[in-house]
Amino acid sequence: MNPTAYCESLFEYKRIPTISVPVGELAIGSKMPIRIQSMTTTDTNDTEASVAQCIRIIEAGGEIVRLTTQGREEAENMRKISESLRAQGYLAPLVADVHYSPAAAEIAAKYVEKVRINPGNYTGGAKRFENDVDTMTDDEWMQFLVNKLKPLVLVCKLHETTIRIGVNHGSLSDRIMAKYGDTPQGMVASCMEYIKAFQQLAFDDLVLSIKSSNTRVMVETVRLLVATMRAEKRVYPIHLGVTEAGSDTEGRVKSAAGIGALLIDGIGDTIRVSLTEDPECEIPVAQRLVDYITAKKGHAKIEHYPTTTYSPYEYKKRKTKEILGVGGDRRPVIIADASGRKSPERNGAEFVYTNDNYTDGGLTIADLSSFDPKRPNCCPMLSNKNFFGYKQTAFVRLSLDELTDEVISELQSRDNLIIAVRPRNVNIVAELRAFVFAMESYDIHLPIVPWIRYDAKQADVFQLEAAADTGLLFIDGLVDGLMLSDYNITQTEVTRTSFEILQATQVRFSKCEFISCPGCGRTQYNLQETAQKIKMRFGHLVGLKIGIMGCVINGIGEMADADYGYVGAGHGRISLYRGKELVKKAIPETDAIEALVDIIKSDGKWVEN
Ligand code: SF4
Repeated sequence: MNPTAYCESLFEYKRIPTISVPVGELAIGSKMPIRIQSMTTTDTNDTEASVAQCIRIIEAGGEIVRLTTQGREEAENMRKISESLRAQGYLAPLVADVHYSPAAAEIAAKYVEKVRINPGNYTGGAKRFENDVDTMTDDEWMQFLVNKLKPLVLVCKLHETTIRIGVNHGSLSDRIMAKYGDTPQGMVASCMEYIKAFQQLAFDDLVLSIKSSNTRVMVETVRLLVATMRAEKRVYPIHLGVTEAGSDTEGRVKSAAGIGALLIDGIGDTIRVSLTEDPECEIPVAQRLVDYITAKKGHAKIEHYPTTTYSPYEYKKRKTKEILGVGGDRRPVIIADASGRKSPERNGAEFVYTNDNYTDGGLTIADLSSFDPKRPNCCPMLSNKNFFGYKQTAFVRLSLDELTDEVISELQSRDNLIIAVRPRNVNIVAELRAFVFAMESYDIHLPIVPWIRYDAKQADVFQLEAAADTGLLFIDGLVDGLMLSDYNITQTEVTRTSFEILQATQVRFSKCEFISCPGCGRTQYNLQETAQKIKMRFGHLVGLKIGIMGCVINGIGEMADADYGYVGAGHGRISLYRGKELVKKAIPETDAIEALVDIIKSDGKWVEN
């Protein structure tokens, strides 16, 4: 697949053209604003609570609201919820979220503006068709799908209801799993066969999503889907989200890194930031992310460089030399910028950049003006102007527009420089990508560390902007470290955010990773409170992934690659998993956290905090 086939430009912010699809009074598609949405966590049969939560989401700025629709009863109750909201003047489109139950989808489609179905389970649960699947030809399977979807399409045509084909990593059908495994290719194939079935039924009001809790999988898969649709010359609007992103900083950084990486390349017509928090808390985060990215429209032109190695559909780390422990096969490093701080702090960063006489035993980078060659563990940061005269190992700060013939020739002759790239364009991703491609063009393999200065004033804004600007660089393996600055935010917070970005993009693990679902009407326990307790108890287990899921129905599949799972299994009951193996079934919630500790201890993976 052509590496640039998924977007309009790698160097200019431009939304990819899609068809426009009506969703009630709104439309979704590239000519429309990027729509913000969320999902309720109430019992959909509880009309009063569901309506109240929908209103909170809408009043926070949510433009579309999704509700769990497990079965016929919930589907029928969507009528009451819709009527109550409309009677109170709230016109935001409602979406029924359906798994396993075509009957529920067909009922809900009469009352709501959009129905989400999951190809992994719409045909009634993949397991039931296992034998049929083995013997069906592709044509027979397509006919089977068309027949299965026809009743829903008839209702949707009659009621002008849109359909979202929502594929999730970890919940693919057996047929797709047998052919492709749980891969980006499998997720795209699953989506494409549903698109073709709907096209055969002359139904075109489709929105697509492919989600994963793994940002790298999610970004690569959505790109592949878009490239596939562009090749077929019909691109449907895309709904973006990172599933089970978690809460607090972790959830925000993970969502911004994954969603931001796609938005910046012009992909995404509606987004949901899934947080294990009250759903209305998701709206300002999503809106800020959209505003931050769309504000880059019309940015200054960025010089193009060709590439033969860029690999947007499959992770490949850019090959670099290792210098001072940066680059090569080393994990990405973190550089704390303490140059404007009264008391520099390392906070686990490999390097501290400072003008002061700071020594704490670790490596310090000093501006050349204050560089003292007698100081141990100190390396200079050189500017574009002074790096020619200094032939020892050093950092050099450069921008794309400083790559003159003379600079390039010097870089080509050196194998002891680490380049700290200072972007000047507001489209930071595109400029840094162009810089990396420039190095490739000139056969320069020096490590690259983006050095980005923010003026965000609030920690949560800084986290969102920094993750949106740098997530793609790590997801695509383009850079070797991270140097962030914002003098309005404490240095501890800036460095913590840097670690969060590396963890969110799967390139460096500094704590336990929690794959925590946002909760919905299926949730079986107090998810938010429990997630906080689990984070406290297991947060120090570096490198482990723990899934915290509200229900067994979707939770098992959707925690995908977690090492352990804590999953709701009935009121006040929890099931514990090792990978996808059920280890403790429906034990009392009060015992579950310590039971999980015991399982991890018995696996020899527990360490005391
Ligand atoms: S795992 Fe279950 S409870 Fe959690 S969001 Fe998914 S369906 Fe809802």
